[in-house]
Amino acid sequence: DGPAGPRLVDRALTAALEVIEANEDELGRLDAVAADGDHGLGMTRGMRAAVAAARSAEAGDTVPGGLLAAGTAFADAAGGASGALYGVLLAETGAGLRDGITAQSLTAAVDGAVAAFVELGGAQPGDKTMLDAIGPFADTLRDQVTAGADPAAAWTAAAERATAAAAATADLLPARGRAARLARRSLGHPDPGATSFALLVTAVAAALNE
Ligand code: ADP
Ligand code: MG
Ligand code: MG
Repeated sequence: DGPAGPRLVDRALTAALEVIEANEDELGRLDAVAADGDHGLGMTRGMRAAVAAARSAEAGDTVPGGLLAAGTAFADAAGGASGALYGVLLAETGAGLRDGITAQSLTAAVDGAVAAFVELGGAQPGDKTMLDAIGPFADTLRDQVTAGADPAAAWTAAAERATAAAAATADLLPARGRAARLARRSLGHPDPGATSFALLVTAVAAALNE
């Protein structure tokens, strides 16, 4: 990936931080519908720490180093269920890009990160969690790459699919995490984690297309 790689991580994470800051209150409101209302605050704390960690001298030298540092810092600073889960997604995506960024390595890295995410959280599709946006994102990324799309085009299509999938979680009943206890209250409202994931990957798509 050459010197463009680490700068790309910084650009992508900075764009992600901006969209999370702009949506902090909305993410908190969504999380308060059936749970504890801290998702907006956790995400801004996590993303600020992630950006700072990825920029730090040594971590910032390589894409895997930057994403591993970002994931560890995110999990520590964000806390909560989503903190640990996003931490694993970032770190495992970085690990999968050890040999450089190509369309193939990107989709393989995302698939590996999703597998680690599912192993940690135990969610199934339809449980009304982040997975209901992440799964369609990974599927679309893989389909696009198989069809010959370049990484930025594939990521953009996958982010659009994740956005639609996150909105569609409004019809689901939560079966995991805090919201499961007051599940019916959340009907008609999208899952906070699925919503933040769609915002993040959409911001990264914009950074990739710059
Ligand atoms: P907490 O529930 O600890 O307060 P957050 O409010 O930051 O954490 O995150 C809540 C989000 O985390 C949910 O909207 C859901 O998307 C996601 N989540 C919670 N538990 C799980 C799980 N076991 N697997 C996948 N995602 C989960
Ligand atoms: Mg919460
Ligand atoms: Mg909480």
